[in-house]
Amino acid sequence: MNQALYQGGCLCGQVRFEARGPASNPHTCSCQLCQRHSGALTLAWVEFPRERVTWTGPGGAPATFRSSDYSSRAFCRACGSSLGAIDDQPTIALLLGCFDDNRDPALMPHSHSFSDRWPEGWQPAPTTQDKGGQHE
Ligand SMILES: [Zn+2]
Ligand SMILES: [Zn+2]
Repeated sequence: MNQALYQGGCLCGQVRFEARGPASNPHTCSCQLCQRHSGALTLAWVEFPRERVTWTGPGGAPATFRSSDYSSRAFCRACGSSLGAIDDQPTIALLLGCFDDNRDPALMPHSHSFSDRWPEGWQPAPTTQDKGGQHE
């Protein structure tokens, strides 16, 4: 079992996190929530149990926006960086782009959600397994 300690944070450094592995369900998603939340066409996600994520920066926990019946999107109130999603269930999903070391093989996506929203002709094309409309 991978007990690695992952660290990361927002653009300005007010929000920092530590997440203890193993990371679960590494995947990419192109749903409209992800696109609007970030401005990006696709996001890369990894998930941790809530009790294994600690907010360590001077700004404490990120601000949240209630984005669905079961989850809120998290962002830095100072710089606006998208950080992840905090579910009502005890899961916190963090965006891979916020990790200090986001090339760890344990974090690489295994699947992709909402391929139907992937713009035709836009590269890189998803090479991971298509999970259709399933959302984290
Ligand atoms: Zn920030
Ligand atoms: Zn999504």
